[in-house]
Amino acid sequence: MAESKRQKTIVIGAGPVGTLAALYAAQRGHNVEIYDLRSDLRDPSTIPLNFTKSINLALSERGINAMRNSGRPALLEQIFKDTIPMKGRMIHGKNSSGELYEQSQVYDIHGRSIYAVDRGGLNKTLLDELDAMPNVKLIFNHKLTGADFKKNKAWFEVSGSTQSDRAREIEIDFDFMIGADGAHSAARYHLMKYQRMDYQQEYIDTLWCEFQIPARELEPGMKDESKFRISPNHLHIWPGKDFMFIAIPSSNGSFTCTLFMPSAHFNHLETNLKSVPAFFDTHFAGVTALIPPSDLITSFRKNPHLPLINIKCAPYHFSSSIVIVGDAAHAMVPFYGQGMNAGLEDISVLFSLLDANPTSRSVALEQYSEYRKADAHVINDLALQNYVEMRASVVSPLYAARKWLEEKLSVWVPGLGWQTKYSRVSFGNERYSEVIRKSERQGRLLSFWLVGMLGCPVLVGGLMAWRRIQR
Ligand code: FAD
Repeated sequence: MAESKRQKTIVIGAGPVGTLAALYAAQRGHNVEIYDLRSDLRDPSTIPLNFTKSINLALSERGINAMRNSGRPALLEQIFKDTIPMKGRMIHGKNSSGELYEQSQVYDIHGRSIYAVDRGGLNKTLLDELDAMPNVKLIFNHKLTGADFKKNKAWFEVSGSTQSDRAREIEIDFDFMIGADGAHSAARYHLMKYQRMDYQQEYIDTLWCEFQIPARELEPGMKDESKFRISPNHLHIWPGKDFMFIAIPSSNGSFTCTLFMPSAHFNHLETNLKSVPAFFDTHFAGVTALIPPSDLITSFRKNPHLPLINIKCAPYHFSSSIVIVGDAAHAMVPFYGQGMNAGLEDISVLFSLLDANPTSRSVALEQYSEYRKADAHVINDLALQNYVEMRASVVSPLYAARKWLEEKLSVWVPGLGWQTKYSRVSFGNERYSEVIRKSERQGRLLSFWLVGMLGCPVLVGGLMAWRRIQR
Protein backbone atom coordinates (compact mmCIF):
# COMPACT_ATOMS: atom_id res chain seq x y z
CA MET A 1 0.00 0.00 0.00
CA ALA A 2 1.37 3.47 -0.86
CA GLU A 3 2.65 5.26 2.25
CA SER A 4 0.30 8.26 1.79
CA LYS A 5 -2.79 6.02 1.44
CA ARG A 6 -2.17 4.09 4.61
CA GLN A 7 -4.73 4.64 7.33
CA LYS A 8 -3.25 6.18 10.47
CA THR A 9 -4.58 4.39 13.53
CA ILE A 10 -3.55 5.64 16.94
CA VAL A 11 -4.03 3.45 19.99
CA ILE A 12 -4.19 5.05 23.44
CA GLY A 13 -2.83 2.72 26.12
CA ALA A 14 -0.17 0.02 25.76
CA GLY A 15 -1.81 -2.42 28.20
CA PRO A 16 -2.79 -5.92 27.04
CA VAL A 17 -5.85 -4.71 25.12
CA GLY A 18 -4.21 -1.69 23.43
CA THR A 19 -1.20 -3.73 22.31
CA LEU A 20 -3.42 -6.43 20.81
CA ALA A 21 -5.50 -3.75 19.05
CA ALA A 22 -2.29 -2.26 17.62
CA LEU A 23 -1.26 -5.71 16.39
CA TYR A 24 -4.60 -6.27 14.61
CA ALA A 25 -4.41 -2.80 12.99
CA ALA A 26 -0.77 -3.28 11.95
CA GLN A 27 -1.58 -6.68 10.42
CA ARG A 28 -4.10 -4.88 8.21
CA GLY A 29 -1.44 -2.50 6.94
CA HIS A 30 -2.39 0.60 8.95
CA ASN A 31 0.28 3.01 10.10
CA VAL A 32 -0.03 2.46 13.83
CA GLU A 33 1.09 4.68 16.67
CA ILE A 34 0.56 3.49 20.21
CA TYR A 35 0.77 6.04 23.04
CA ASP A 36 1.09 5.35 26.75
CA LEU A 37 1.48 7.76 29.62
CA ARG A 38 3.99 5.47 31.30
CA SER A 39 7.48 4.56 30.19
CA ASP A 40 8.14 1.24 28.47
CA LEU A 41 7.44 -1.54 30.98
CA ARG A 42 10.37 -3.49 29.51
CA ASP A 43 12.64 -0.76 30.86
CA PRO A 44 13.73 -1.87 34.37
CA SER A 45 13.33 1.68 35.72
CA THR A 46 9.57 1.69 34.95
CA ILE A 47 7.38 1.59 38.06
CA PRO A 48 6.32 -2.07 38.38
CA LEU A 49 2.84 -2.80 37.17
CA ASN A 50 1.91 -4.52 40.42
CA PHE A 51 1.44 -1.09 41.95
CA THR A 52 -1.70 -0.75 39.93
CA LYS A 53 -2.60 -4.18 38.57
CA SER A 54 -2.57 -7.74 39.86
CA ILE A 55 0.66 -9.48 38.73
CA ASN A 56 -0.91 -12.82 37.88
CA LEU A 57 -4.07 -13.18 35.89
CA ALA A 58 -6.25 -16.03 34.70
CA LEU A 59 -6.09 -16.24 30.92
CA SER A 60 -8.89 -18.25 29.32
CA GLU A 61 -10.36 -19.19 25.95
CA ARG A 62 -11.70 -15.78 24.89
CA GLY A 63 -8.36 -14.06 25.40
CA ILE A 64 -6.51 -16.98 23.84
CA ASN A 65 -8.88 -16.98 20.85
CA ALA A 66 -8.38 -13.26 20.26
CA MET A 67 -4.61 -13.75 20.20
CA ARG A 68 -5.03 -16.85 18.00
CA ASN A 69 -6.96 -14.68 15.50
CA SER A 70 -4.28 -11.96 15.47
CA GLY A 71 -2.56 -13.49 12.45
CA ARG A 72 0.71 -13.79 14.44
CA PRO A 73 1.12 -17.55 14.96
CA ALA A 74 4.23 -17.24 17.16
CA LEU A 75 2.44 -14.98 19.65
CA LEU A 76 0.48 -17.64 21.52
CA GLU A 77 3.41 -20.03 21.47
CA GLN A 78 5.53 -17.38 23.19
CA ILE A 79 2.82 -16.57 25.73
CA PHE A 80 2.15 -20.22 26.59
CA LYS A 81 5.84 -20.76 27.39
CA ASP A 82 5.25 -19.07 30.70
CA THR A 83 1.73 -20.06 31.71
CA ILE A 84 0.56 -22.65 34.22
CA PRO A 85 -2.68 -24.56 33.60
CA MET A 86 -5.15 -24.33 36.48
CA LYS A 87 -7.65 -27.19 36.21
CA GLY A 88 -9.83 -26.11 39.11
CA ARG A 89 -10.31 -24.33 42.38
CA MET A 90 -8.72 -25.61 45.57
CA ILE A 91 -10.90 -24.68 48.50
CA HIS A 92 -9.04 -24.35 51.80
CA GLY A 93 -10.69 -24.54 55.19
CA LYS A 94 -10.87 -26.08 58.64
CA ASN A 95 -13.30 -28.88 59.53
CA SER A 96 -15.34 -29.13 62.75
CA SER A 97 -12.49 -30.91 64.55
CA GLY A 98 -10.12 -28.08 63.67
CA GLU A 99 -8.16 -29.97 61.00
CA LEU A 100 -7.08 -28.18 57.83
CA TYR A 101 -8.56 -29.51 54.61
CA GLU A 102 -8.17 -28.88 50.88
CA GLN A 103 -10.97 -29.66 48.46
CA SER A 104 -10.34 -29.68 44.72
CA GLN A 105 -13.25 -28.58 42.50
CA VAL A 106 -12.33 -29.07 38.84
CA TYR A 107 -13.57 -26.32 36.56
CA ASP A 108 -14.58 -28.60 33.76
CA ILE A 109 -15.63 -32.21 33.53
CA HIS A 110 -14.04 -32.37 30.07
CA GLY A 111 -10.62 -31.54 31.58
CA ARG A 112 -10.18 -28.04 30.18
CA SER A 113 -8.07 -25.53 32.16
CA ILE A 114 -7.63 -21.81 32.54
CA TYR A 115 -4.05 -20.50 32.62
CA ALA A 116 -2.11 -18.47 35.17
CA VAL A 117 -0.14 -15.83 33.29
CA ASP A 118 2.15 -13.06 34.40
CA ARG A 119 0.44 -9.85 33.32
CA GLY A 120 3.70 -8.00 32.72
CA GLY A 121 5.13 -10.95 30.79
CA LEU A 122 2.08 -11.13 28.51
CA ASN A 123 2.22 -7.38 27.93
CA LYS A 124 5.98 -7.54 27.15
CA THR A 125 5.44 -10.32 24.61
CA LEU A 126 2.81 -8.21 22.85
CA LEU A 127 5.14 -5.17 22.86
CA ASP A 128 8.02 -7.29 21.46
CA GLU A 129 5.71 -8.50 18.68
CA LEU A 130 4.83 -4.87 17.85
CA ASP A 131 8.49 -3.86 17.87
CA ALA A 132 9.09 -6.32 15.05
CA MET A 133 6.52 -4.61 12.78
CA PRO A 134 7.85 -1.77 10.57
CA ASN A 135 4.50 0.06 10.48
CA VAL A 136 4.20 0.43 14.27
CA LYS A 137 5.62 3.19 16.49
CA LEU A 138 5.60 2.74 20.26
CA ILE A 139 5.47 6.13 21.98
CA PHE A 140 5.81 6.18 25.77
CA ASN A 141 5.57 9.01 28.32
CA HIS A 142 2.73 10.56 26.32
CA LYS A 143 -0.53 11.20 28.13
CA LEU A 144 -3.70 11.87 26.14
CA THR A 145 -5.04 15.21 27.37
CA GLY A 146 -7.51 16.26 24.69
CA ALA A 147 -9.18 15.19 21.46
CA ASP A 148 -11.36 16.66 18.73
CA PHE A 149 -13.25 13.79 17.11
CA LYS A 150 -14.69 15.98 14.32
CA LYS A 151 -11.29 17.25 13.18
CA ASN A 152 -9.47 14.02 14.20
CA LYS A 153 -6.84 15.69 16.32
CA ALA A 154 -5.43 14.56 19.66
CA TRP A 155 -3.23 16.31 22.21
CA PHE A 156 -0.67 14.66 24.43
CA GLU A 157 1.34 15.86 27.38
CA VAL A 158 4.90 14.64 27.05
CA SER A 159 6.70 13.75 30.22
CA GLY A 160 10.44 13.24 30.06
CA SER A 161 13.64 13.53 31.95
CA THR A 162 14.95 16.71 30.31
CA GLN A 163 13.71 20.22 31.11
CA SER A 164 12.56 20.80 27.52
CA ASP A 165 10.54 17.56 27.60
CA ARG A 166 8.67 18.45 30.75
CA ALA A 167 5.03 19.52 30.39
CA ARG A 168 5.36 19.84 26.63
CA GLU A 169 2.17 19.33 24.64
CA ILE A 170 2.02 17.95 21.12
CA GLU A 171 -0.80 17.73 18.56
CA ILE A 172 -1.35 14.60 16.46
CA ASP A 173 -3.63 14.01 13.45
CA PHE A 174 -5.21 10.60 13.00
CA ASP A 175 -7.77 8.73 10.92
CA PHE A 176 -8.94 6.37 13.65
CA MET A 177 -8.38 6.31 17.42
CA ILE A 178 -8.72 3.17 19.55
CA GLY A 179 -9.04 4.13 23.22
CA ALA A 180 -7.62 1.32 25.37
CA ASP A 181 -6.49 3.46 28.28
CA GLY A 182 -8.09 1.56 31.12
CA ALA A 183 -10.80 2.18 33.69
CA HIS A 184 -10.02 5.90 34.12
CA SER A 185 -9.89 6.41 30.37
CA ALA A 186 -9.17 9.88 29.00
CA ALA A 187 -10.32 8.70 25.55
CA ARG A 188 -13.75 7.85 27.04
CA TYR A 189 -13.90 11.21 28.83
CA HIS A 190 -13.31 13.11 25.58
CA LEU A 191 -15.63 10.80 23.59
CA MET A 192 -18.45 11.72 26.00
CA LYS A 193 -18.32 15.30 24.70
CA TYR A 194 -19.25 14.07 21.21
CA GLN A 195 -21.47 11.08 21.88
CA ARG A 196 -24.63 10.84 24.00
CA MET A 197 -23.07 8.11 26.07
CA ASP A 198 -24.91 6.36 28.90
CA TYR A 199 -22.48 5.88 31.71
CA GLN A 200 -22.70 4.07 35.03
CA GLN A 201 -19.92 3.44 37.52
CA GLU A 202 -19.92 1.72 40.87
CA TYR A 203 -17.22 1.13 43.48
CA ILE A 204 -17.98 -2.01 45.45
CA ASP A 205 -17.23 -1.94 49.15
CA THR A 206 -14.24 -4.24 48.74
CA LEU A 207 -10.58 -3.35 48.56
CA TRP A 208 -7.77 -5.64 47.47
CA CYS A 209 -4.20 -6.05 48.58
CA GLU A 210 -1.44 -8.33 47.29
CA PHE A 211 0.68 -10.89 49.14
CA GLN A 212 3.19 -13.55 48.03
CA ILE A 213 3.61 -17.19 48.98
CA PRO A 214 7.34 -17.64 48.41
CA ALA A 215 8.75 -20.55 46.40
CA ARG A 216 10.28 -23.41 48.39
CA GLU A 217 14.08 -23.60 48.28
CA LEU A 218 14.93 -26.81 46.44
CA GLU A 219 17.31 -29.17 48.21
CA PRO A 220 19.45 -31.66 46.29
CA GLY A 221 17.37 -34.55 44.97
CA MET A 222 14.07 -32.62 45.15
CA LYS A 223 11.91 -32.52 42.03
CA ASP A 224 11.39 -29.15 40.32
CA GLU A 225 7.65 -29.11 41.10
CA SER A 226 8.48 -29.29 44.84
CA LYS A 227 9.22 -25.55 44.60
CA PHE A 228 5.44 -25.03 44.80
CA ARG A 229 4.24 -25.14 48.42
CA ILE A 230 0.66 -25.87 47.32
CA SER A 231 -0.75 -27.39 44.13
CA PRO A 232 0.43 -25.36 41.11
CA ASN A 233 -2.53 -26.48 39.01
CA HIS A 234 -5.27 -24.82 41.02
CA LEU A 235 -6.55 -21.37 41.74
CA HIS A 236 -6.55 -21.50 45.54
CA ILE A 237 -9.41 -19.97 47.48
CA TRP A 238 -9.80 -19.39 51.18
CA PRO A 239 -13.46 -18.41 51.24
CA GLY A 240 -14.84 -16.21 54.01
CA LYS A 241 -18.40 -14.95 54.29
CA ASP A 242 -17.53 -11.30 53.74
CA PHE A 243 -14.04 -11.66 52.37
CA MET A 244 -11.75 -13.99 50.51
CA PHE A 245 -8.08 -14.78 49.99
CA ILE A 246 -6.89 -16.29 46.71
CA ALA A 247 -3.56 -17.54 45.34
CA ILE A 248 -2.47 -17.95 41.68
CA PRO A 249 0.74 -19.83 40.78
CA SER A 250 3.79 -18.33 39.06
CA SER A 251 6.28 -20.39 37.10
CA ASN A 252 9.09 -19.57 39.58
CA GLY A 253 7.24 -21.52 42.30
CA SER A 254 5.76 -18.53 44.14
CA PHE A 255 2.06 -17.61 44.29
CA THR A 256 0.55 -14.17 43.88
CA CYS A 257 -2.15 -13.86 46.51
CA THR A 258 -4.93 -11.32 46.82
CA LEU A 259 -6.95 -10.42 49.87
CA PHE A 260 -10.41 -9.07 49.05
CA MET A 261 -12.19 -7.48 51.98
CA PRO A 262 -14.64 -4.66 52.87
CA SER A 263 -12.91 -1.35 53.60
CA ALA A 264 -14.00 -1.37 57.29
CA HIS A 265 -11.90 -4.49 57.92
CA PHE A 266 -8.92 -2.91 56.18
CA ASN A 267 -9.34 0.21 58.34
CA HIS A 268 -9.51 -1.92 61.46
CA LEU A 269 -6.35 -3.91 60.65
CA GLU A 270 -4.48 -0.75 59.58
CA THR A 271 -4.81 0.57 63.13
CA ASN A 272 -3.46 -2.68 64.58
CA LEU A 273 -0.94 -4.20 62.19
CA LYS A 274 0.25 -6.78 64.72
CA SER A 275 -3.16 -8.46 64.59
CA VAL A 276 -2.83 -9.24 60.84
CA PRO A 277 -1.43 -12.81 61.34
CA ALA A 278 -4.08 -13.62 63.97
CA PHE A 279 -6.75 -12.33 61.57
CA PHE A 280 -5.43 -14.68 58.90
CA ASP A 281 -5.37 -17.59 61.37
CA THR A 282 -9.01 -16.98 62.22
CA HIS A 283 -10.29 -16.54 58.69
CA PHE A 284 -7.87 -18.17 56.26
CA ALA A 285 -6.79 -21.45 57.78
CA GLY A 286 -3.23 -22.51 56.99
CA VAL A 287 -2.04 -19.28 55.32
CA THR A 288 0.40 -18.39 58.12
CA ALA A 289 2.17 -21.70 57.45
CA LEU A 290 2.71 -20.57 53.83
CA ILE A 291 3.49 -16.88 54.37
CA PRO A 292 5.60 -15.98 57.40
CA PRO A 293 3.60 -13.70 59.77
CA SER A 294 6.19 -10.92 59.45
CA ASP A 295 5.77 -11.00 55.62
CA LEU A 296 2.00 -10.84 56.03
CA ILE A 297 2.37 -7.67 58.09
CA THR A 298 4.91 -6.13 55.69
CA SER A 299 2.80 -6.82 52.59
CA PHE A 300 -0.33 -5.53 54.29
CA ARG A 301 1.51 -2.34 55.29
CA LYS A 302 3.48 -1.75 52.09
CA ASN A 303 1.20 -2.90 49.29
CA PRO A 304 -1.61 -0.55 48.32
CA HIS A 305 -5.20 -1.23 49.33
CA LEU A 306 -6.92 -0.67 46.03
CA PRO A 307 -10.57 -0.19 45.08
CA LEU A 308 -12.62 -2.23 42.62
CA ILE A 309 -14.67 -0.42 40.03
CA ASN A 310 -17.46 -1.60 37.77
CA ILE A 311 -18.17 0.54 34.69
CA LYS A 312 -20.91 0.14 32.12
CA CYS A 313 -21.34 2.54 29.25
CA ALA A 314 -22.57 2.69 25.65
CA PRO A 315 -22.21 3.48 22.80
CA TYR A 316 -18.48 2.94 22.50
CA HIS A 317 -17.78 5.01 19.40
CA PHE A 318 -18.26 8.32 17.60
CA SER A 319 -18.72 8.43 13.83
CA SER A 320 -15.70 6.82 12.16
CA SER A 321 -13.17 8.52 14.47
CA ILE A 322 -12.98 6.66 17.76
CA VAL A 323 -13.91 3.49 19.58
CA ILE A 324 -13.12 2.54 23.20
CA VAL A 325 -12.27 -1.04 24.20
CA GLY A 326 -11.15 -3.08 27.20
CA ASP A 327 -11.41 -1.58 30.69
CA ALA A 328 -12.01 1.84 29.12
CA ALA A 329 -15.36 0.49 27.91
CA HIS A 330 -16.27 -2.05 30.60
CA ALA A 331 -14.02 -2.21 33.66
CA MET A 332 -15.31 -4.99 35.86
CA VAL A 333 -14.59 -6.53 39.23
CA PRO A 334 -12.13 -9.44 38.85
CA PHE A 335 -14.25 -12.29 40.22
CA TYR A 336 -14.92 -14.08 36.92
CA GLY A 337 -11.33 -13.67 35.72
CA GLN A 338 -12.72 -12.09 32.55
CA GLY A 339 -11.68 -8.40 32.53
CA MET A 340 -8.67 -8.82 30.31
CA ASN A 341 -10.17 -11.78 28.43
CA ALA A 342 -13.26 -9.74 27.54
CA GLY A 343 -11.05 -6.82 26.51
CA LEU A 344 -8.99 -9.02 24.21
CA GLU A 345 -12.20 -10.47 22.78
CA ASP A 346 -13.36 -6.87 22.04
CA ILE A 347 -10.47 -6.59 19.58
CA SER A 348 -11.33 -9.71 17.67
CA VAL A 349 -15.03 -8.71 17.48
CA LEU A 350 -14.17 -5.12 16.49
CA PHE A 351 -11.84 -6.09 13.66
CA SER A 352 -14.19 -8.76 12.31
CA LEU A 353 -16.82 -6.01 11.92
CA LEU A 354 -14.29 -3.58 10.42
CA ASP A 355 -13.25 -6.32 7.96
CA ALA A 356 -16.90 -6.96 7.10
CA ASN A 357 -17.47 -3.25 6.33
CA PRO A 358 -14.34 -2.25 4.37
CA THR A 359 -15.93 0.88 2.88
CA SER A 360 -17.56 2.33 5.98
CA ARG A 361 -15.82 2.39 9.33
CA SER A 362 -18.68 4.37 10.86
CA VAL A 363 -21.13 1.56 9.98
CA ALA A 364 -18.74 -1.01 11.46
CA LEU A 365 -18.39 1.01 14.67
CA GLU A 366 -22.14 1.48 14.91
CA GLN A 367 -22.56 -2.28 14.60
CA TYR A 368 -19.80 -2.87 17.13
CA SER A 369 -21.42 -0.66 19.79
CA GLU A 370 -24.79 -2.27 19.20
CA TYR A 371 -23.42 -5.82 19.28
CA ARG A 372 -20.92 -5.54 22.12
CA LYS A 373 -23.07 -3.59 24.60
CA ALA A 374 -25.26 -6.58 25.51
CA ASP A 375 -22.24 -8.82 26.05
CA ALA A 376 -20.16 -6.33 28.02
CA HIS A 377 -23.07 -5.53 30.34
CA VAL A 378 -23.73 -9.23 30.97
CA ILE A 379 -20.12 -10.05 31.90
CA ASN A 380 -19.96 -6.99 34.19
CA ASP A 381 -23.02 -8.32 36.06
CA LEU A 382 -21.72 -11.90 36.14
CA ALA A 383 -18.40 -10.72 37.58
CA LEU A 384 -20.24 -8.97 40.41
CA GLN A 385 -22.41 -12.03 41.09
CA ASN A 386 -19.41 -14.35 41.10
CA TYR A 387 -17.95 -12.65 44.16
CA VAL A 388 -20.71 -14.25 46.21
CA GLU A 389 -20.05 -17.60 44.53
CA MET A 390 -16.30 -17.50 45.21
CA ARG A 391 -16.40 -16.40 48.83
CA ALA A 392 -19.53 -18.25 49.96
CA SER A 393 -21.35 -20.53 47.48
CA VAL A 394 -18.30 -22.71 46.71
CA VAL A 395 -18.82 -24.37 50.10
CA SER A 396 -22.61 -24.76 49.74
CA PRO A 397 -23.98 -28.30 49.07
CA LEU A 398 -26.68 -26.87 46.78
CA TYR A 399 -24.02 -25.22 44.61
CA ALA A 400 -22.06 -28.50 44.48
CA ALA A 401 -25.23 -30.44 43.59
CA ARG A 402 -26.14 -28.16 40.68
CA LYS A 403 -22.54 -28.23 39.37
CA TRP A 404 -22.47 -32.05 39.65
CA LEU A 405 -25.81 -32.49 37.90
CA GLU A 406 -25.01 -30.06 35.08
CA GLU A 407 -21.64 -31.67 34.45
CA LYS A 408 -23.09 -35.19 34.48
CA LEU A 409 -25.81 -34.12 32.04
CA SER A 410 -23.15 -32.68 29.71
CA VAL A 411 -21.48 -36.13 29.64
CA TRP A 412 -24.50 -38.46 29.80
CA VAL A 413 -26.61 -36.56 27.27
CA PRO A 414 -24.14 -34.61 25.11
CA GLY A 415 -26.87 -33.94 22.55
CA LEU A 416 -28.60 -31.62 25.04
CA GLY A 417 -25.65 -29.21 24.79
CA TRP A 418 -25.75 -28.88 28.56
CA GLN A 419 -22.80 -26.99 30.17
CA THR A 420 -22.15 -25.12 33.39
CA LYS A 421 -22.19 -21.34 33.15
CA TYR A 422 -18.51 -21.29 34.17
CA SER A 423 -17.59 -23.60 31.25
CA ARG A 424 -19.51 -21.50 28.77
CA VAL A 425 -17.82 -18.29 29.98
CA SER A 426 -14.28 -19.61 30.40
CA PHE A 427 -13.90 -22.39 27.83
CA GLY A 428 -16.05 -21.17 24.95
CA ASN A 429 -16.50 -18.20 22.67
CA GLU A 430 -20.27 -17.89 22.47
CA ARG A 431 -21.53 -14.41 23.27
CA TYR A 432 -21.79 -13.62 26.98
CA SER A 433 -25.42 -12.63 26.40
CA GLU A 434 -26.05 -16.05 24.86
CA VAL A 435 -24.29 -17.74 27.81
CA ILE A 436 -26.61 -16.10 30.30
CA ARG A 437 -29.69 -16.90 28.20
CA LYS A 438 -28.76 -20.58 28.01
CA SER A 439 -27.71 -20.80 31.64
CA GLU A 440 -30.97 -19.24 32.86
CA ARG A 441 -32.90 -21.69 30.69
CA GLN A 442 -30.93 -24.58 32.19
CA GLY A 443 -31.66 -23.24 35.68
CA ARG A 444 -35.40 -23.08 34.94
CA LEU A 445 -35.39 -26.63 33.57
CA LEU A 446 -33.49 -27.94 36.59
CA SER A 447 -35.93 -26.26 39.00
CA PHE A 448 -38.84 -27.68 37.01
CA TRP A 449 -37.39 -31.20 37.14
CA LEU A 450 -36.56 -30.84 40.84
CA VAL A 451 -40.06 -29.65 41.69
CA GLY A 452 -41.39 -32.50 39.53
CA MET A 453 -39.23 -35.10 41.27
CA LEU A 454 -40.07 -33.82 44.76
CA GLY A 455 -43.64 -32.88 43.94
CA CYS A 456 -44.72 -36.18 42.34
CA PRO A 457 -44.50 -38.36 45.46
CA VAL A 458 -46.28 -35.67 47.49
CA LEU A 459 -49.05 -35.47 44.87
CA VAL A 460 -49.43 -39.24 44.63
CA GLY A 461 -49.43 -39.57 48.44
CA GLY A 462 -52.06 -36.83 48.71
CA LEU A 463 -54.26 -38.50 46.09
CA MET A 464 -54.05 -41.86 47.84
CA ALA A 465 -54.93 -40.31 51.22
CA TRP A 466 -57.88 -38.46 49.64
CA ARG A 467 -59.19 -41.68 48.05
CA ARG A 468 -58.92 -43.50 51.39
CA ILE A 469 -60.99 -40.76 53.08
CA GLN A 470 -63.60 -40.99 50.29
CA ARG A 471 -64.08 -44.75 50.83
P1 FAD B 1 -5.04 -1.40 31.40
O1 FAD B 1 -4.39 -2.70 31.71
O2 FAD B 1 -5.54 -0.58 32.50
O3 FAD B 1 -4.06 -0.56 30.47
C1 FAD B 1 -4.33 0.80 30.17
C2 FAD B 1 -3.06 1.48 29.71
O4 FAD B 1 -3.41 2.82 29.33
C3 FAD B 1 -2.00 1.59 30.80
O5 FAD B 1 -0.76 1.13 30.29
C4 FAD B 1 -1.96 3.08 31.14
O6 FAD B 1 -0.66 3.52 31.50
C5 FAD B 1 -2.43 3.72 29.84
N1 FAD B 1 -3.09 5.02 30.01
C6 FAD B 1 -4.01 5.37 30.93
N2 FAD B 1 -4.40 6.65 30.74
C7 FAD B 1 -3.71 7.12 29.68
C8 FAD B 1 -3.67 8.38 29.00
N3 FAD B 1 -4.42 9.42 29.39
N4 FAD B 1 -2.84 8.50 27.94
C9 FAD B 1 -2.05 7.47 27.53
N5 FAD B 1 -2.05 6.26 28.14
C10 FAD B 1 -2.87 6.09 29.19
N6 FAD B 1 -8.64 -10.01 34.08
C11 FAD B 1 -8.64 -11.27 33.60
O7 FAD B 1 -8.97 -11.50 32.43
N7 FAD B 1 -8.27 -12.33 34.39
C12 FAD B 1 -7.93 -12.15 35.70
O8 FAD B 1 -7.61 -13.12 36.40
C13 FAD B 1 -7.94 -10.82 36.25
N8 FAD B 1 -7.60 -10.61 37.53
C14 FAD B 1 -7.60 -9.34 38.03
C15 FAD B 1 -7.31 -9.12 39.37
C16 FAD B 1 -7.36 -7.85 39.91
C17 FAD B 1 -7.07 -7.65 41.36
C18 FAD B 1 -7.69 -6.75 39.06
C19 FAD B 1 -7.75 -5.35 39.61
C20 FAD B 1 -7.98 -6.94 37.72
C21 FAD B 1 -7.96 -8.23 37.19
N9 FAD B 1 -8.27 -8.47 35.85
C22 FAD B 1 -8.30 -9.76 35.36
C23 FAD B 1 -8.66 -7.36 34.95
C24 FAD B 1 -7.50 -6.93 34.07
O9 FAD B 1 -6.40 -6.52 34.87
C25 FAD B 1 -7.96 -5.77 33.20
O10 FAD B 1 -9.20 -6.07 32.62
C26 FAD B 1 -6.96 -5.50 32.08
O11 FAD B 1 -5.72 -5.11 32.62
C27 FAD B 1 -7.50 -4.40 31.17
O12 FAD B 1 -6.57 -4.15 30.18
P2 FAD B 1 -6.61 -2.79 29.37
O13 FAD B 1 -5.47 -2.89 28.40
O14 FAD B 1 -7.98 -2.51 28.88
O15 FAD B 1 -6.33 -1.64 30.44
